[in-house]
Amino acid sequence: MLTAINQSHQVIIAAAADRRTLYYCPGCRTKVILRRGQRVVAHFAHQSGSHCAVSSEPESQQHLTGKWQMAHYFGEDRVELEPYLKTIRQRPDLIVTQAKGQVPIEFQCSAISPEKLTSRNAGYQQLALKPVWVLGNQYYQHMTRQAQVAPFVTWSAAWGWYLLFWRTATATMELWCQIQTDLLGTIGYQRYRLLGAGQYEFIENKAIRATTWQVNQLRQQIVHGLRYRTPKYMQWQNFCYSHHRLLQTIPDFCFDQPVVVPIFGDSVAIFRYCLLILISELGSDQELNQSQLFCMVEKLRPMLVIGNLANCSERRFRDQLQLVLDDWVQTLMNNGYLHRVGPEKWRVTRQIMPA
Ligand SMILES: [Zn+2]
Repeated sequence: MLTAINQSHQVIIAAAADRRTLYYCPGCRTKVILRRGQRVVAHFAHQSGSHCAVSSEPESQQHLTGKWQMAHYFGEDRVELEPYLKTIRQRPDLIVTQAKGQVPIEFQCSAISPEKLTSRNAGYQQLALKPVWVLGNQYYQHMTRQAQVAPFVTWSAAWGWYLLFWRTATATMELWCQIQTDLLGTIGYQRYRLLGAGQYEFIENKAIRATTWQVNQLRQQIVHGLRYRTPKYMQWQNFCYSHHRLLQTIPDFCFDQPVVVPIFGDSVAIFRYCLLILISELGSDQELNQSQLFCMVEKLRPMLVIGNLANCSERRFRDQLQLVLDDWVQTLMNNGYLHRVGPEKWRVTRQIMPA
């Protein structure tokens, strides 16, 4: 940590600390050691063997450096470094005061368990604060799939689904926005450098393209998954069995519209197929409305691999799911399975053949 408190309970920055003074952790109140030298960013560390629940250690140089750089980036006069929030016993890396209120910043460099992530977010929620997760090098280098994106991805009207990265090597903030996934759960996005004060610079477009290769790949994955009884595919297959269908006979048009919002892993095509199975079961000439459709979705939802969308509210999830459903209903109409009879009301005009 970059700060500690002295005996008079004042917050002191390590770079300006006095070696002859005693310093304490603001969280657990135990004595901390000042570490300062030419090769390290000046910081305080707990004594070995201490069990502090508030600060996670050991802190990497990247983490310490990034915090300093971000304090400068957001403007020192608007930033509080590592403030200890007593009521929730949490210590965000920074709190930035903005016109709209205070924003805790979590600079995440190492892996974090879903439980810890959820509990941190819940803590901030108690204080009506919305944290911003900024990711470090390790994430930056390996982030390619929906499952990796899910814990940190956030939605905004301007940026769509996005992630933020702090690059310590260049002291810059990078934005990956309009994130989408393909049928295999690989992500596509646009990269920008955020220059501060609303200024940004376009870097590149990491587009994802759907190919026949991908569809074949996915079909093969399903076949392999079933052969080796992979739980993910077996649960879908069991659903299909109980409805007298086979997962292997998933029609080609379930793979149409391969690029979707990043709330699905690699199961969106299977999800569409199983939804069609439920719709078919209504029987020919029967009516289907929006709330029935959502009941069907709820039946399938436990099987969906959506990952831990920690920064996504249930409402946001449903809004995004709605987009995917609207597209799917349109596809079903195009393929003659449904016919619109009113706003959010359809008639079943064709059923898929039982296996
Ligand atoms: Zn402590």
